[in-house]
Amino acid sequence: MKVVKFGGSSLASGAQVEKVYRIVASDPERKIVVVSAPGKRYSNDIKVTDLLISCAKRYLKGEQASDLFETIIGRYKSIARELHLSNDIIEKITDDLLTLLNGDKSNPASFIEAVKASGEDNNAKLIAAIFKHKGLEAQYVSPKEAGLLVSNDPGNAQVLPDSYERLYELKNRSGIIVFPGFFGYNTDGDVVTFSRSGSDITGSILANGVKADLYENFTDVDAVYTVNPNIVHQPKEIRELTYREMRELSYGGFSVFHDEALIPAFRAGIPVNVKNTNNPNAPGTKIVNIRKNTDGPVVGIASDEEFCSIYVGKYLMNKEIGFVRKILLTLEELGLSFEHVPSGIDDITIILRQNQMNEKIEKSIVKKVIDDLDADEVRVEHDLALIMLVGEGMRQKIGTAARASKALAEAKINIEMINQGSSETSMMFGVKEAVEKKAVQALYEEFFLQKSEFKRGLIRSDQASHLKPLY
Ligand code: ASP
Repeated sequence: MKVVKFGGSSLASGAQVEKVYRIVASDPERKIVVVSAPGKRYSNDIKVTDLLISCAKRYLKGEQASDLFETIIGRYKSIARELHLSNDIIEKITDDLLTLLNGDKSNPASFIEAVKASGEDNNAKLIAAIFKHKGLEAQYVSPKEAGLLVSNDPGNAQVLPDSYERLYELKNRSGIIVFPGFFGYNTDGDVVTFSRSGSDITGSILANGVKADLYENFTDVDAVYTVNPNIVHQPKEIRELTYREMRELSYGGFSVFHDEALIPAFRAGIPVNVKNTNNPNAPGTKIVNIRKNTDGPVVGIASDEEFCSIYVGKYLMNKEIGFVRKILLTLEELGLSFEHVPSGIDDITIILRQNQMNEKIEKSIVKKVIDDLDADEVRVEHDLALIMLVGEGMRQKIGTAARASKALAEAKINIEMINQGSSETSMMFGVKEAVEKKAVQALYEEFFLQKSEFKRGLIRSDQASHLKPLY
């Protein structure tokens, strides 16, 4: 049995839904279909989830939102029309959404959650109706009815472990189940969503629940690429990678698969196959527990920007027990979450996402660390990019850091910081945002390209100034 998840771009129009139908109908093992809300049809289109969030906010302020409401309903309507479905289901979706928007707003966060999640909920109802119309035995199943319970953290829900047992029962249903992604219910019966792009998480939870043989995650690219294709032209595809490698890459900036979506599948030992709705015969990328390490030390390079660092220097910090705890306590008190903490003998750097900071917070950190911890120096630096080299092969290979830093040096890029965890699965390089792309290019060439590929014109000559033979 396979659990299959389709992302927003795979469900953005009638033509895309037709492809989804063909994929599902072509394999009787595809029994559980998890759907996102309709996503973008073109690059500056707006996802239904974003339209719903804006609409809910306007309703909360008591403002008029009929334009948004019509646009949202219009998205479902055009899919139904393209696939010649009667208007009944659209009328039902329209009534349900209106009732929801005019309903209880005494808890604004809970109201937004319910409206936000209606994107997938209504889409699941629509897709089930389309499948039926086309002759498949299909039914919409609600997360409430199936018993998908989650913690009460709006926008960041975590599955409650006893859900798995209840979800196992889905195995006994006949026909195809169409299940909305992105949300579950708390123990009070209210909708709570996962973090954004969380339908991947739902698919993984269901795959674990029913002990599926495979979790297929359909998106709009042929595979997980070794590096962001917006930075490197036509990068190589990854055929196989481990859960740990995928999680590191997702966390490091790869948006193709949610970083929290691996754990449920991993715990049940279910392989994940990332595939393309627009090219379903391509093999895609397999995510597995153990892979044969036939390639080099690095499987992929992720990068992300908008980080800042807090540098704290104090002579003899190495001898002072509890110093780091006190700094981290300061951050905890301010509700700040950090990403990495590289340290030296007399200094420590804390790297955080910049969007959590503002001038006031920065000033209070600096003051507190100087006053309470008697630090010699505290400095906040902005606009950093973090580049993650990821690969389990690093554990067996000597010299990966040397190769990476040499490639960066030859590209005249200053490394602001380096961090490697003891798992030796990833290595982080902090650079200024302004040189992020150049740095990623240099590392890609170092770890993934051979001179012959440059000759075949796969990369531009200006990218090849420091090209080295592979491995
Ligand atoms: N529709 C939700 C979002 O845009 C969830 C998802 O697509 O997975 O974040």
